[in-house]
Amino acid sequence: MSELDESQAIAEAEPVTKPVASNAGPAISATNLCKTYRSGTIFRKRFEALKNVSFEVKQGEVFGLLGPNGAGKTTFVKILLGIISKTSGSASLLGCKAGSIAARQQVGYLPEHLRISPHLTACTALECFGNLSNVANSVIREKRDELLELVGLTGRHREPVKNFSKGMLQRLGLAQAMLHEPKLLMLDEPTDGLDPRARAEMRQIIHRLREMGVTIFLNSHLLQEVELICDSVAILNLGQLKYCGPVETIGQEVANENPQIVAEVDLSAPIQEIEASLLGRTFKHLKPPTKTSASIDIEFSFQGEVDEFVDEMRKHQISILRLLPRRISLEDAFLKLIEEL
Ligand code: ADP
Repeated sequence: MSELDESQAIAEAEPVTKPVASNAGPAISATNLCKTYRSGTIFRKRFEALKNVSFEVKQGEVFGLLGPNGAGKTTFVKILLGIISKTSGSASLLGCKAGSIAARQQVGYLPEHLRISPHLTACTALECFGNLSNVANSVIREKRDELLELVGLTGRHREPVKNFSKGMLQRLGLAQAMLHEPKLLMLDEPTDGLDPRARAEMRQIIHRLREMGVTIFLNSHLLQEVELICDSVAILNLGQLKYCGPVETIGQEVANENPQIVAEVDLSAPIQEIEASLLGRTFKHLKPPTKTSASIDIEFSFQGEVDEFVDEMRKHQISILRLLPRRISLEDAFLKLIEEL
């Protein structure tokens, strides 16, 4: 099957799991979650890795947990999975206490670097992973064709995985995480190291899983990817929650708190004339100026400054070819939020 056919197959594959009830409680809930690490024997040092973190992940959404290194993301995920214990507060997965067997049974996990023996085929790899998760062989055999179809690997199932691209291995990793029909998938850096096409294929599968009612909780440092994949995000910094909400409103929230207006402006005049009329405002070139025009990026503190700028340009008979307020991207919002102490 060609790569194009594989993309087609991903888009057309039938759902494998049934949608969960839409009126159910949150998929993940954390309330005043705290974690203090203690190290040393005599002078025990304390380090607060999570400070009263509270947020919820709705069932059926794609949710991204973001934060710079050391923010507490791994600590949070480890508490959810029961790998480490919390210091105080509470956390639950689909109504079950975080770390309990009942909670873990409802979670599928794709680590950042899933190791698959190169001599295994897609089918035998699924059997191995299924056995590790106590899934009966009869169930694995029943589900594997559907799952391989879902991840666009139909036709490649008897091939050794050593022939697979990184994107195909990652898709096989998703299939193994879905073997026991979890309602919640936790993905660690799912698109890291993939080429643009393989990333698009992963996004397509993640969106299909969401359509099937699976909640997806992912951890990624690729903010442009997160913006394309996630419905909502939480941003942690130094163990504190800085934002939790829809991806599309994060820019608005940051804009309200820091009311700068960044605008891209195309002006028709020699740059020396433009500079003289800017009255000391700082600006950045968006591209090298020509003899008769410039394309610049200017920060204004409030709308009145934009109006003053337009008046100034007109007074100097400089034509404004384009004035476009720049949308605050997830990356800009993230940087602003983690800068605030
Ligand atoms: P992230 O995943 O966001 O990079 P972590 O949850 O791994 O952050 O770590 C949060 C903070 O807790 C870091 O400052 C880290 O050094 C500290 N930390 C993590 N694990 C331990 C540990 N076992 N003992 C002491 N400090 C730890």
